[in-house]
Amino acid sequence: MAEEKLPVSFDPVRFAKWGRRLEGSIPLSQMSRMTEQVTELRGEVSVALDCSMGEDRVRALRGHITAVVPMQCQRCMDEVEIQVDSQFSLGVVDSEAFAEKLPEEYEPLFIEEGEKLFLKELIEDELILALPIVPMHPQEECKAGGMSEDDMNLVQEESPQESPFAILKDLKI
Ligand SMILES: [Zn+2]
Repeated sequence: MAEEKLPVSFDPVRFAKWGRRLEGSIPLSQMSRMTEQVTELRGEVSVALDCSMGEDRVRALRGHITAVVPMQCQRCMDEVEIQVDSQFSLGVVDSEAFAEKLPEEYEPLFIEEGEKLFLKELIEDELILALPIVPMHPQEECKAGGMSEDDMNLVQEESPQESPFAILKDLKI
C-alpha cells in the first residue's frame, strides 16, 4: 500500500479505490474549534488513515489517532494531560439511502461525488469526539484526590446535604 505525507484535502472516493494509506501528524494549534475544551492548543495529533474498498463496495476510511491533549482537571482545576487513542471507521456515502445500507461497523460520512474532504476537519471532529466530557487526573496524581472512592461515599453518608464532593460524584462517569 502506498504511503505518503498528509494532504490538506483529498478525494476520499478515489483514495478508497486506490487503496491509499495516509500517515503523519497535525499540530493542535491548527484546530481552533477545540479552544474551549483545552487549556492550550499545543502538541500534535498522530494520524493513520487507511482508505480502501470494503465489502459491498463500501468506500471505507479507517483511522487511528493518538494525541496528548492538555485539559483542565475537573477535580483540582489544574492541567491534566489526556491521552487520546481512538479508532474510527467511516463509510463514504452521498445519500441517506446509501447510508442506511452501510454495514454497522461504519459511521456514514456524507460527501458528494468529486467533493474534497479536508483532513484537518475530519481529524478535529474525531479528536473532539474522543475527549472525555469530565477530564480528571488519576486519583493518586490529583491534588484534590487524596480520598478514595470509599472515603467519598463515607463523607456523603456523614453529611449528605453539605458535601462538596456530592456534585463531583454526580459528574463522574
Ligand atoms: Zn486533578
